Amino acid sequence: MKRIGAHVSTSGGVENAPLNAKEIGARAFALFTKNQRQWKAKPFTIENIEKFKQNCRDAGIMPEHILPHDSYLINLGHPEKEGLKKSREAFLDEMQRCEQLGLLMLNFHPGSHLKKISVEACLKRIAESINIALDKTTGVMAVLENTAGQGTNMGFRFEHIAEIIHEVKDKTRVGVCLDTCHTFAAGYDIRTRDTFETTMKEFERVVGLKYLRGVHLNDSKPDLGSHVDRHHSIGKGKLGVEPFRFIMNDSRFEEIPMVLETIDATIWAEEIKLLYSLAG
Ligand SMILES: [Zn+2]
Ligand SMILES: [Zn+2]
Repeated sequence: MKRIGAHVSTSGGVENAPLNAKEIGARAFALFTKNQRQWKAKPFTIENIEKFKQNCRDAGIMPEHILPHDSYLINLGHPEKEGLKKSREAFLDEMQRCEQLGLLMLNFHPGSHLKKISVEACLKRIAESINIALDKTTGVMAVLENTAGQGTNMGFRFEHIAEIIHEVKDKTRVGVCLDTCHTFAAGYDIRTRDTFETTMKEFERVVGLKYLRGVHLNDSKPDLGSHVDRHHSIGKGKLGVEPFRFIMNDSRFEEIPMVLETIDATIWAEEIKLLYSLAG
């Protein structure tokens, strides 16, 4: 079964995320477990945690189909000591928040070299950051997201992802989330059956399909290879509907959370319906 959802709001408490997911007909969802633009967050109460779990059960959404996203402030490849330390502490805190909620994955953008260290050094640093976090937690997998390659962001080449995974000690707890907009903006075409297949084969060859743990379903405002990260609603951007039809009819995408991060939350329910209608 395909598991489609959206990155839903936690406004009023983390326990509201599954309620928001249920309301739009989602079978999966993403969330921030804390305010994504702040370093510090209040710890969860027992009540937050219990209600979150109960509401997930009521919505029929299991931890396997929930893909939390970390804060935008975190840079696990930070070139400077202070920034790296702060990022690693915040990332560990987020992994622990996931553990508390009974969640199994944490999705994050790999990191940025900020033109102060080499690509190689940055990738090594990111892997080291992951190793540190995995050492101090149990059960939560670190899920690397491919990026558009805006600025000095790493992770826009499948080779970056592969190199990070290569350096991660516990390969059972590292995975990848493919963002359709980022993939396209990074220069991997997916608009036709042929180009979609070529890109997926490239991912399989360079990274490995077994690492695919989630998808972000976004159309793209910018063009192929633009390295600009601007999402659009499904079918309204440069990708159009076809790539999503390929995904919805592809067995490689079974049973992993696939979530919208599209720009108009008021049409998420319609977008989810549209996506399911593309299958079969
Ligand atoms: Zn994304
Ligand atoms: Zn994006």
